[in-house]
This record gives sequence, structure tokens and C-alpha cells, in this order.
Amino acid sequence: MTLTVRQFACLSDNYGFLVRDDATGLVATVDTPDAEAILSEIEASGWGRLDLILNTHWHADHTGGNERLKAETGCEIVGPEEVRRAAPLDRVVVDGDLVRLGSTAFEVMTTPGHTQGHITYRSVEGALAFVGDVIFALGCGRLFEGTAEQMWDSLNRINAWPETTTLYCAHEYTASNARFALSLDDRPEMQAHAEAIFAARERGQPTVPTTVGAERAFNPFLRAADAADFAARRAAKDGFRG
Ligand code: ZN
Ligand code: FE
Repeated sequence: MTLTVRQFACLSDNYGFLVRDDATGLVATVDTPDAEAILSEIEASGWGRLDLILNTHWHADHTGGNERLKAETGCEIVGPEEVRRAAPLDRVVVDGDLVRLGSTAFEVMTTPGHTQGHITYRSVEGALAFVGDVIFALGCGRLFEGTAEQMWDSLNRINAWPETTTLYCAHEYTASNARFALSLDDRPEMQAHAEAIFAARERGQPTVPTTVGAERAFNPFLRAADAADFAARRAAKDGFRG
């Protein structure tokens, strides 16, 4: 039931995640931004195998490595139906489904807004979740396919998880997100949180993962008053040059 997560930077600003179920040694990758980088990380980990791909949505920086990784490892590919627009997929999952990796179970939750079929994977026992491009540290995904109402609902479903839940976001956008957050929120604790983020990035350190508690406290999208306020904030962020 214990999981080990290896997080690594790839492409321009994506994070890749390898996950091992410690009891059985089974290994999954969350999304496939870069097959070469994922194969290198498997090598570096010494874990020696890839059993499962968990796709969050169909975008190329999340599914681009599916075909090669399947060909090289024979792994099973799980994801939302929309992945078939871009890449091979073996098993379609929907809201409430469980996906097993050895002794670990991930619960699928539908979180549309960035794309129509976007899903997240949460290990309830591990108190962690892989949230793709729905929520970022101090940010949220752009509304490429869905409506602001859908995204507001998706963010609130994540916000309903326990505050200690660790959130593995798929991109490092946090410094830019922090500048936007500061434009809306001048509380001293917000300023301190942003300063810590800027300092981490100066040192080249990741700001992912985050937690539900940190996002509840500081994420300007979770802190919107209602769906209309969320929509206005999302539109302002799209045009923000900070
Ligand atoms: Zn995306
Ligand atoms: Fe992405």
C-alpha cells in the first residue's frame, strides 16, 4: 500500500512521474510527456519495468510517449476515451473507477474544463493525487474545451479532498502563477508564500508537488467567490503579463 513517486522535469516545463507500488514492485508512469525521458528515469531508478500508463487527458505533452512505451515494455494504457484522439489506449476509465497497481488502488475522478474528458487519479490510502492540467500550484489549466462552470466544479471537487492530500501537477508554472496571485491578494501570508516560491525557483528547485491545504489557502482560482468570479479570474490570467 505504500507508493514511491519519482518526479522529474521534461520537455520545456512538464513534470513526469514514475510511481512504484512498493509491496509488489509494479511501476506506472502518469502521462507520457517524453518516452525517452521516461525510459531513462526507469533506468536510473533501477525499478527495471513499466507495467502501466495512467493518462489524464489527450494533449500531446501527456500522451506523446504512449505508443513507444507500449511497444518497448508491453505496459497497459489506461485513460479517458478522449486519449484515442491522439494515442493508443487499452482501457477506458470513467468517474469512480478504480485502477490497480499491485496493492495500490487509484480512484478516477472526472475533472473537465481544460479538456472535456480530463480525469485525475487519487490514491486514497497514500493521500496523494495526480491532477494533470486541472490544478497547478497557485494556478489552474486553461479552458481549451470546457466552460468556466465545468472547471470551477472540477476545482471544487479537488478542494473537497483532505487538506493533507499531496497534489502532483503536470507543469512548473508556479512563479508566473504567483505573480498573478499577488495581483489579487496582498495578504502578508500570500506575499510570504510567493517569496518562498520565487526563492525555490531561483535555486532551481521544483514547487511541485503542492497540497490541497496550500492551494485552499493561496490559489486565486480556488479562492474565487463563485463561478462568475472564477470565470473573470481565469480570463484575467489569460491576458496577464506579470
Ligand atoms: Zn494539457
Ligand atoms: Fe500539459
